[in-house]
Amino acid sequence: MVYFGDLKPIKGKIHINKDRCKGCGFCVEYCPKDVLEMSDEFNIKGYHPPYIKNEDECCYCQLCETICPEFAIFVTLKEKEEQGEKGESRP
Ligand code: SF4
Ligand code: SF4
Repeated sequence: MVYFGDLKPIKGKIHINKDRCKGCGFCVEYCPKDVLEMSDEFNIKGYHPPYIKNEDECCYCQLCETICPEFAIFVTLKEKEEQGEKGESRP
């Protein structure tokens, strides 16, 4: 039997394609966990992309990915990523 206390919170791993970003700030503004922040750096288009301020807080809600008008950010399940890194051999 699995008890509620045994359940682990789901964590996300964030991927940002900085050069696709147009610096609108939607992902930063609407992230419910305050994970992202706008950076001072410029991308190839001259916009400020976001950076990951606190990935441990990401709850994998995927709102940033859904709201981004440029498809510049997406999130994967952290556990799967880690299992993949350890368990799968890649060419
Ligand atoms: S998946 Fe949710 S919690 Fe994680 S960075 Fe995106 S909006 Fe924030
Ligand atoms: S929502 Fe997309 S385009 Fe807007 S700042 Fe975030 S990553 Fe950049």
